Amino acid sequence: MTKTFYITTAIDYVNSRPHVGHAYEKVLADAIARWNRLNKKDVFFLTGVDENAQKNVQAAEKAGIPVKEFIDKNAELFIELCKKLNLSHDDFIRTTAKEHTIVVQRIVKKIIEKGDIYKAKYEGLYCVGCETYYTENELIDGKCPEHNKIPELRKEDAYFFKLSKYKKELQKLIPQYVTPESKAHEVLNRVNGELNDICISRHKANWGIDFPNDKKFKVWVWIDALINYISGLKDKEEVYWPAQLHVVGKGINWFHSVIWPAMLISADYKLPEKLLVHGYLTTEGKKMSKSLGNVIDPLELLNKYHADSVRYSLLRCNVFDDSDFSEDIIIERHNNELANKLGNLVSRVSTLAEKYGIEKTKSNLEIDKTLKEVKEHFNNYELHKVLEVIFHYIDKTNEYIQEKKPWEVHSPQREAPQQSEEAHSKSKSNSRKVLYELSVAIKNATILLSPFIPSTAERIAKTFNFKISLDDLEKPLDVKSKINKSEILFQKI
Ligand SMILES: [Zn+2]
Repeated sequence: MTKTFYITTAIDYVNSRPHVGHAYEKVLADAIARWNRLNKKDVFFLTGVDENAQKNVQAAEKAGIPVKEFIDKNAELFIELCKKLNLSHDDFIRTTAKEHTIVVQRIVKKIIEKGDIYKAKYEGLYCVGCETYYTENELIDGKCPEHNKIPELRKEDAYFFKLSKYKKELQKLIPQYVTPESKAHEVLNRVNGELNDICISRHKANWGIDFPNDKKFKVWVWIDALINYISGLKDKEEVYWPAQLHVVGKGINWFHSVIWPAMLISADYKLPEKLLVHGYLTTEGKKMSKSLGNVIDPLELLNKYHADSVRYSLLRCNVFDDSDFSEDIIIERHNNELANKLGNLVSRVSTLAEKYGIEKTKSNLEIDKTLKEVKEHFNNYELHKVLEVIFHYIDKTNEYIQEKKPWEVHSPQREAPQQSEEAHSKSKSNSRKVLYELSVAIKNATILLSPFIPSTAERIAKTFNFKISLDDLEKPLDVKSKINKSEILFQKI
C-alpha cells in the first residue's frame, strides 16, 4: 500500500493582500510535498485562508466594504498567489465554507461531550492582531510581542476549554512533535510553567461560526482555524488523517504545538506527526511590516520574475532562522546560480550534444553521495541545505566540462595534428562520452531540483529526454533520442 503524506500550510488571514512571508511558507510546503511525490507517496497538500477572523472584519470596516465582498476579493489574491507560484496543492480551503462550519461544530460538540468545555466569566487582555488573549507577563512593555500594540481589555461570559487537563500528554508529545528543537523548548517551557484553561468563545460577535447549542456565542477563531486541517480533507479524512506535517511560522507555534494537539486528544483524534516551525523573512534584520513600509508584495515579484526564480531564492533562505529577503537577493540568486551555473551548463552541454551527439559510458559524475545528503537534509526539512548540496554537484559538473573540454577535439585547430585518423576518431568518441556523462549529471541534478524549480525541471527533462522521477536517477540516459539545443532557461538580469 502506498504511504500517505498529508501536508498543510497555515491558513492566512485575508485582512490584506498576501505578503512575501505567505509565499515563503507556501513554496516551502510545496517543495516538501513534491519531494514526497517523487518518493512515490500518496500526497495531499492543503493550503487556504482564514476568513472568520475578527481582524478581517475590522479591515473590511476600515475599507468601507461589506465583509463578505472584502473577504472574497482578498481570498482571490491568495488563490492567484498559489497559481503564480506554481503550487501543487490538492485543495484550497476557505473557512467560510459550509463544510468547514459543520466539521467545526461537530468537533467542538465532541469536546463538550467529553466534559472538556465549561462556562465562566472572563476578563482579559485581547490582541485583535493575534486573535488571542494574553496574560500580563506574556506582554512586552504592556504590548503584544507579535504586534507591538497594547491589547484591549475585554470582559465577557465565555466558554473555556480544559487545556490544563492535557499538560502531561503535551509534555510528552512536544519534544518529538515540534521541530526544530529550539522551538520545541520554547513551548515546552511555557507548558511546564502555568498551563491555564483557555477561553474558546466570543460573546455577541457577528462574524464567525456559531457555538454549538448556544448561538449567543461564536467559536473562537483559532479553534475554528485549526480544524481546517481536518475539514479541508472533506470526504478524504479517513485516507489522510493524521497529517504527517503542519508547516507554520514561529508566531503561531503555540497554537499548533499546544492547543491543537490538546483539542485532538480531547475529541479522540489521532495526532499529527510533525510540526515544522519556520523563521520569518526580514529586511535588513527587521521584521517586515506595513507600519515599517518594508513589505514585499509577492504578486508584484511574480509579475516581474519567473516563478522558479522567486521559488528558488525563497527556498535558499534558512528554514529555521530569520532570513533577509529582497528583490536584490532574487536577482543575485537568479543570476549567480540559476543563470550562471545551471542555465549555462544546460545551454553548453545541449549545444555540444546536438552538434556532436552522445555516447553511452559509465559516468564519473556519480550522484550517490549527493542523493544521500539530499535525503538527509529533506528528512530534517533543511531545504536550504538540499540546495547547497545540489549546487555543489552542479559546480563539480561545471568543473568537469572545463577540465575535459569536449569541444576541443572537434575543432579544426586542434592541437596534436600528428594524431592518426584512428586516434582522432577515438578522441571524438571520448568527447561524446564526456557529453554523455555531463548530460547524465544534468539529468540527476534536475530531478533533485524539481521540487524547487518544477517548470524549469520539466523543460530540461524534455531537452535531455528523461522523466522527472527518482527511478530515472538510476537509469541511463536514452541515447537514441536526439538532444536539441536548449533555449535559454534564465536570462541574466
Ligand atoms: Zn498580537
